[in-house]
Amino acid sequence: MSVLYDRVALIGLGLIAGSMALAMKRAGLAREVVGHARSAETRQVARDIGLCDRITESAAEAVEGADLVVLCVPVGAMAAVAAEIGPALKPGATLSDVGSVKRAVIDAVTPHIPQDVHFVPAHPLAGTEHSGPRSGFPELFDGRWCLIVPAEGTDEAAVARLETLWQGIGALTDRMEADHHDLVLAVTSHAPHLIAYTMVGVADDLRRVTDSEVIKYSAAGFRDFTRIAASDPTMWRDVFLNNKDATLEILGRFTEELFALQRAIRTGDGDHLHAYFTRTRAIRRSIIEAGQDTDAPDFGRGKQV
Ligand code: NAP
Repeated sequence: MSVLYDRVALIGLGLIAGSMALAMKRAGLAREVVGHARSAETRQVARDIGLCDRITESAAEAVEGADLVVLCVPVGAMAAVAAEIGPALKPGATLSDVGSVKRAVIDAVTPHIPQDVHFVPAHPLAGTEHSGPRSGFPELFDGRWCLIVPAEGTDEAAVARLETLWQGIGALTDRMEADHHDLVLAVTSHAPHLIAYTMVGVADDLRRVTDSEVIKYSAAGFRDFTRIAASDPTMWRDVFLNNKDATLEILGRFTEELFALQRAIRTGDGDHLHAYFTRTRAIRRSIIEAGQDTDAPDFGRGKQV
């Protein structure tokens, strides 16, 4: 593939930015990738492992002359970073982000963007429980969805170019409206993470009365929960604080269903349980058929959203 952007600036150098940098290099999509991270330690690691062509001391310096700027920081940090880089953005440049929540990020970032910069928010549905500059790998986005969430009236050429970039680094792309994105993600990612955090928390409490057997005899179901519950605390705190309504809506429904299953267990309603589990098993099948996971018995170990 040929060069799509002359200079790309990545702000925040963790799992997502690192994977983007490596995948852009793999595909030759940017002539130069410039990076900035808030801590001197992360900047040094990024230099040591050659993550970007150039690492700058400030975010404003990184975006100077960049044709594409991607904010790869936790959702709660987007506003402050946008305020810092806003005045330094090049006229005609595209600004994007990879935040897991879209409405709150759009509201936080938009006031800081000059009129002549195209803001095209995005969210790659790919990740692992690891974070930091050493955690990225070029295959992270291969075959995974990246949702592009442009506001109405955004320059079509800028949106199409960003889509081509994501496709070039392995992803499938789709466009989605911000509120709809937040509801879909509350179901597929945010509520499941909260449930995993809760289950691991309960097991941890129980560990004290079961003398560590929870860890020693940890079976697949619990182990999969622990992987999800090992995800970055800052990132997930920000997701819940910024996708409040949709997450609470889904958790409300979850609680109702849980009560219904609880009652079926109490009353010995095996038909209810069997019918429910048959329905959920079919969902697993459709995810595999859609190519979003494999049928391997250790499902989910490699990648998650
Ligand atoms: P990460 O590995 O933890 O890296 C985050 C980066 O942001 C680090 O370079 C960190 O700098 C910087 N940062 C943290 N707090 C900051 C602040 N207050 N101000 C400025 N910079 C700050 O995170 P990630 O997994 O790449 O996630 C980045 C974004 O992608 C988040 O918005 C997340 O919601 C989204 N996302 C994540 C996943 C996933 O599964 N991980 C998937 C899709 C989208 P230091 O290292 O210097 O602290």
